[in-house]
Amino acid sequence: MANNTVNIIGAGLAGSEAALYLAARGVKVNLYEAKPLWFSPAHSKTEFAEIVCSNSLKSTVPTTASGTLKNELDILGCSLLDIARKVSVPAGSALAVDRDGFSELVTKAVRSQPNITVIDKIVTEINTDELTIVCAGPVCHDGLAESLRAITGEQSLHFFDAAAPIITAECVDYSRAFFGARYGKGDADYLNCPMTKDEYLQFYNALITAERAVDKVGGVFEGCMPVEVMAARGEDALRFGPLRPVGFRDAGKPYAVLQLRRENAEGTLFNLVGFQTNLKFGEQKRVFSLVPALKNIEIVRYGVMHRNTFVNAPRALNIDLRLKAAQNVFVAGQLCGVEGYVESIATGLLAAINAHRLLCDKATVVPPENTVLGALMKYITTPNADFQPMNANFGILPMIDGVKKAERKQAYYDRSNACMREWVKNIDF
Ligand SMILES: Cc1cc2nc3c(=O)[nH]c(=O)nc-3n(C[C@H](O)[C@H](O)[C@H](O)COP(=O)(O)OP(=O)(O)OC[C@H]3O[C@@H](n4cnc5c(N)ncnc54)[C@H](O)[C@@H]3O)c2cc1C
Repeated sequence: MANNTVNIIGAGLAGSEAALYLAARGVKVNLYEAKPLWFSPAHSKTEFAEIVCSNSLKSTVPTTASGTLKNELDILGCSLLDIARKVSVPAGSALAVDRDGFSELVTKAVRSQPNITVIDKIVTEINTDELTIVCAGPVCHDGLAESLRAITGEQSLHFFDAAAPIITAECVDYSRAFFGARYGKGDADYLNCPMTKDEYLQFYNALITAERAVDKVGGVFEGCMPVEVMAARGEDALRFGPLRPVGFRDAGKPYAVLQLRRENAEGTLFNLVGFQTNLKFGEQKRVFSLVPALKNIEIVRYGVMHRNTFVNAPRALNIDLRLKAAQNVFVAGQLCGVEGYVESIATGLLAAINAHRLLCDKATVVPPENTVLGALMKYITTPNADFQPMNANFGILPMIDGVKKAERKQAYYDRSNACMREWVKNIDF
């Protein structure tokens, strides 16, 4: 490509990472940022890479998916993780940051890069003729969302106000659950978790008294009621709603039934049907583990209640993060259908790697699916009628056969580490 410039829309986590990667390789970057002209409901500071909620970038332990992803990003030379470590605060095995210190250091790094030109602008039109990375985040400006919609089509840009937790299939106690659809309708993709009256009441009381997260982006919850709010309407509200115990002829007479629905084709993940929630993450684990089949619950993506704009990645994106409808345009960060700070940074980095390769007249690349980043890319771009954003978790990786359960997580880490190191050698980046 003749022009050595990349436009980046949004100087958040993905955009800052992408800009630093490209600038370090001599690429001229136009970094467009709406702040301070306009602040989303979640943003309030003028610095870049603002951490909008929890200050935790999650676990650093290798036997967690988040720790494994961090190792992959280190192998790829991720700038923002380095900066995060410089401003880390004690948080056990997690990487937590001083959020102001983090944003200040990222802003300094970006502003001191001579190849990056920061442009204060609310972008409302994406120029599809120019190489561009769109990473304006889950609460991006409506004008930009409209432009994306115009390029990708009506069905390809999604919003949600609420998401239910996703759990591993492995954690379910199958002796307390059974497959089958209500009234035998459809196939048997639902896994049903029955409760007796005593079990239900214990669960119900814990649910209505559990601690809720602060609503950071208010006024967006019409039409999607958190399960704890529905429960607070009365003891039987859930038994007439998502937990109704009807339609299962051969299941005895359960008092309430929670349904789990398959989240991926492999059947390694389930979501809790109708359980969008605004409970704090620790509370979700405590309360939902009171459902007998879920006593060992392993939540890979917690329920959240906040505005989230994202492209319908299976429909709109190629696996290299380029829009099918506009091959010069990459989408990265939360907007591409991943969920989480580190995942957003990771996709910013991947989009930048690929934008750089296009400038060098090389084909785009994607890490192997045995890495967490590669598996995430595969997950978000695999056809899925009910696509929802996904975060790093071992449930999306190809299974490792012949390894004891207790050793499996270490095996996932080892395999990812080896694959990513090999991949980096071969892509000459
Ligand atoms: C309320 C809320 C809470 C969250 N809590 C967590 C959490 O606790 N843990 C976690 O891991 N993840 C959390 N997330 C999810 C996600 O990890 C963060 O949103 C993350 O910041 C996403 O990174 P990003 O780079 O995609 O977007 P952002 O970091 O949001 O960056 C986008 C940037 O684009 C700019 N922008 C927007 N529109 C335009 C435009 N039209 N023109 C130019 N610039 C524009 C914005 O001002 C912003 O600076 C949360 C999200 C929200 C909304």
